[in-house]
Amino acid sequence: MTSSNAIAGRDLETLRTATTGDVFAPGDHGYDEARRAWNLATDERPSVVVMAESAADVAHAVRYARSRGMRIAPQGTGHGSEPLEPLEGAMLLRTVRMRGVRIDSDSRTARAEAGALWQDVTVPAGQQGLAALAGTSPNVGVTGYTLGGGMGWLARRYGLAANSVTTAEIVTPDGRVRRADADHEPDLFWAIRGGGGSVGVVTALEMRLYPVRALYAGALFFPVQRSAEVLHAWSAWTGTVPDEVTSLGRILQVPFVPEVPERLRGRAFAMVEAAYLGDGLTGAELIQPLRQLGPELDTFAMISAPALTQLHMDPDQPAPGQGDGAYLADFPAAAIDALITVAGPDAGSLLASVEVRHLGGALARHAPGAGAQAKIDAKYLMFAGGFTPTPELAAAVRWQAQAVKNALAAWRASYDYYNFEETPASASAVLSPASYHRLQKIKASYDPDQAIISAHPVPLST
Ligand SMILES: Cc1cc2nc3c(=O)[nH]c(=O)nc-3n(C[C@H](O)[C@H](O)[C@H](O)COP(=O)(O)OP(=O)(O)OC[C@H]3O[C@@H](n4cnc5c(N)ncnc54)[C@H](O)[C@@H]3O)c2cc1C
Repeated sequence: MTSSNAIAGRDLETLRTATTGDVFAPGDHGYDEARRAWNLATDERPSVVVMAESAADVAHAVRYARSRGMRIAPQGTGHGSEPLEPLEGAMLLRTVRMRGVRIDSDSRTARAEAGALWQDVTVPAGQQGLAALAGTSPNVGVTGYTLGGGMGWLARRYGLAANSVTTAEIVTPDGRVRRADADHEPDLFWAIRGGGGSVGVVTALEMRLYPVRALYAGALFFPVQRSAEVLHAWSAWTGTVPDEVTSLGRILQVPFVPEVPERLRGRAFAMVEAAYLGDGLTGAELIQPLRQLGPELDTFAMISAPALTQLHMDPDQPAPGQGDGAYLADFPAAAIDALITVAGPDAGSLLASVEVRHLGGALARHAPGAGAQAKIDAKYLMFAGGFTPTPELAAAVRWQAQAVKNALAAWRASYDYYNFEETPASASAVLSPASYHRLQKIKASYDPDQAIISAHPVPLST
């Protein structure tokens, strides 16, 4: 399809008049702020930015773009902006102002508008004794995270967030507002649950919540020089724990910033972070083999479900960053040694964090009625990333994250995790072949002109 770079001012007025939110073109006051993603490393320059405030705004914007041959990039926070293709000539359709959330404690469900952040759901859900399948960060968007799978602290017990979605409200490229669930628009419903946002613009999701009043969770901090010992011990320990335990092993370089407590500031650590869905006594018994290694700091305690989003210490303000991830079929001793060689205490690594998450449990079982990511065969998931305030650092961090991936090549699975693939890649690189081919057919049916730009594109002919 063709796309138009220049939009006549008067033509844009028709969109402005139809939109409750705001519309910005290059040169407008507010354009730069409107196009700014959470990840400040991204510098997209779309032909128009629509700050939608309702599903009706989204539908107007989609119809406007389609009638003028423009492509559309839906976006919430912009946490996942790095893999996006250049948006020159396209419309950036942002949902950040659509943050309405409704919790229904009787049916144990939440309805979140497309711009909701995870903290908008976890906090009110927690007040009702319920937990959502949020990720590690409170300010990642519910929608982008969930469309790409969504793997959080309850993943080994309850699976991917995508497979707990019960309904999606979505504007398809033909401008129609549709409701997709198990009985309506089954293909659309399948595609949005793990296939990314390639078939339309989601305006709201409904999802199951789980009864969790409190759980045993925390982190063990060890001096970074003990990385090999800690990762070997953690990896062995993951073979012993029930599905109620989700954990990760990590090498963390804490930034030298005033917000961080002084004893951690500017230091590097080998860490284990874990959450156990159960009582403190059993949790302490489960964690004991790692605790007996003698951590420098031990934060394990009973916490509320919303507090889980603080455990990983993700950045609370927008920052420039680069990273990359990979599914690992396994993470044996030789893989740990390979990782230590490129990212351990003597590697001179610039990476702020290199983590390996333990999968298995519910993630490894075919979720009933699942979407595009029904089950994950890989046993572990690696992510390596760092902050990139300068172009030189960006190049170095990108190179080092790739080096970690390369060092683990022998243990990599045949495709990677949708949400952790931060470099440009087709959906074929982040879905199983069967899912990818089904997604291609659905894309061809709902979006034959490739009007929707998604994090991982779905070309029609490969
Ligand atoms: C600090 C941090 C922590 C993270 N932790 C986790 C984690 O624990 N587990 C995990 O699985 N992932 C995690 N991620 C990855 C995260 O899930 C992805 O970056 C995700 O894409 C972010 O979603 P978003 O809506 O915030 O971002 P956005 O950049 O706004 O969206 C990402 C993509 O989602 C699609 N999309 C967004 N909104 C819509 C919409 N309304 N309609 C259609 N498509 C849409 C688009 O393709 C868009 O490009 C983390 C990322 C960061 C930066």
